[in-house]
Amino acid sequence: MDATEIKGKSLNALSRLCHTIAVEKGFWDSERNLGEALMLVVTELAEAMEAHRRQDKANFREEIADSFIRLLDLCGGLGIDIEEEIHKKSMKNKKRPYKHGKIC
Ligand SMILES: [Mg+2]
Repeated sequence: MDATEIKGKSLNALSRLCHTIAVEKGFWDSERNLGEALMLVVTELAEAMEAHRRQDKANFREEIADSFIRLLDLCGGLGIDIEEEIHKKSMKNKKRPYKHGKIC
């Protein structure tokens, strides 16, 4: 699968694609620093916040996509079955109380 065939694919398929591209671009040439990789997700979310502050909706959508791409790359690199993990956590969340027992 290449980048032109991603619509309608599963999260795990997208994870494999995002990771393949990241490997091709050299982001996994040496052992990946997990903390750095997680903070790069945060930087994409911060970029989305800045786009929101500028009311740049196109850039906001792109930065949200960047955030997912970074997370899906990480899942691919770490061998995480993200579909299974989301399913398991959603079932756990479904049993939690309103607002998970907190005020917000
Ligand atoms: Mg970005």
